[in-house]
Amino acid sequence: MRATLIWTINDFPAYGMVSDWSTHGKLACPYCMENNKAFTLTNGGKTSFFYCHRHFLPMNHRYRKNRKDFFIGRVEMDVAPPRLSSKELHDVVLEYGDIVFGFQSGKQKFPSFGLTHNWVKRSNFWELLY
Ligand SMILES: [Zn+2]
Repeated sequence: MRATLIWTINDFPAYGMVSDWSTHGKLACPYCMENNKAFTLTNGGKTSFFYCHRHFLPMNHRYRKNRKDFFIGRVEMDVAPPRLSSKELHDVVLEYGDIVFGFQSGKQKFPSFGLTHNWVKRSNFWELLY
């Protein structure tokens, strides 16, 4: 029997479970990854992504220059972070080895977790043939 995964439809927490990219913390955005513009709220200390994705808009989009309705007087002039191709992303994921889960695993995390990446483990979906 053969099966093909074409796509998944899920909410953001489920996306984290399917992709094994943790959707918590400052690196929660799986598109921006380490290039995100998340900030910590002064009251409460929560990570916020408000106004952090205007750089995906076209350069001449009116929202980029809108100082009134977005982040306090800030004009967005940055370009979107580079989007990895599936091959590039696969190569990144292969850098991370397998994590043994279960009682003997303890609290294993890949080095630099939460600093440069949010990979929790390598998803089994990467083992499929594409
Ligand atoms: Zn993002």
